[in-house]
Amino acid sequence: MIEITRIQQAAEYLRAAQRVVVFTGAGVSRESGVPTFRDALTGLWANYDPHKLATVAGFRANPKLVWDWYAERQAQLRTVTPNAGHDAIAALEKSIPSVTVMTQNIDGLHERAGSTDVIALHGDITRYKCLADCQGNPTEVVIEDLVWDREQGPPACPHCGAWVRPAVVWFGEMLPPGTFERAVALTEAADVLLVVGTSGEVQPAASLPSIARQHGAKVIEVNPHPSALSRRAHVFLQGPSGEVLPQIVAAMHATE
Ligand SMILES: [Zn+2]
Repeated sequence: MIEITRIQQAAEYLRAAQRVVVFTGAGVSRESGVPTFRDALTGLWANYDPHKLATVAGFRANPKLVWDWYAERQAQLRTVTPNAGHDAIAALEKSIPSVTVMTQNIDGLHERAGSTDVIALHGDITRYKCLADCQGNPTEVVIEDLVWDREQGPPACPHCGAWVRPAVVWFGEMLPPGTFERAVALTEAADVLLVVGTSGEVQPAASLPSIARQHGAKVIEVNPHPSALSRRAHVFLQGPSGEVLPQIVAAMHATE
């Protein structure tokens, strides 16, 4: 049980804020039952090397295999729903003028919960793009408009004929252009950085709390366990986001 004063402290920071950045990681999705990349390597897929399923080289070597793997993960995602943590993050928009969600998750659950400004740092498993990015990076392709033989593998880009691939960031790939810069700029301008369900071991998660503090923002962390970020948080709230975030939102609206 978290002491009530720390929940109230977090709620006060948020109530006073004009601009909030919420940074989320795998922990938030896990609470909805979304398997992590490695968790998903089970059953039929248990013997596959992740680098064959989530790299450009692996896709070029066996486009159908990679396509089928993502199709299966997508089908899995249709069986899960946003949890109370996603809902609480979306609810922040009702009382705070500017809320941007930056997420390492590729499942689209923040949008489904109602968040309207979401930066998907690692892409979105429900979207597709041209492998050659022939019309600029990214060249999005809407596959619902395409007709192709699914037994043969992925469809071809309608512009250039290259394979169509999932619009996710694979191992060894850069984040979409400008993404890191936008993450930093938003964090510099934020009054509160709320970090949820990420270990903070990879960029940009690792550097955002320090950037926020340098620019005078309050840093709130919600995680089941202390992380690499916790010592840089003004308030650390230990627990699952689906339990902690609704308490914060409720405290924001409680009358004093
Ligand atoms: Zn193309």
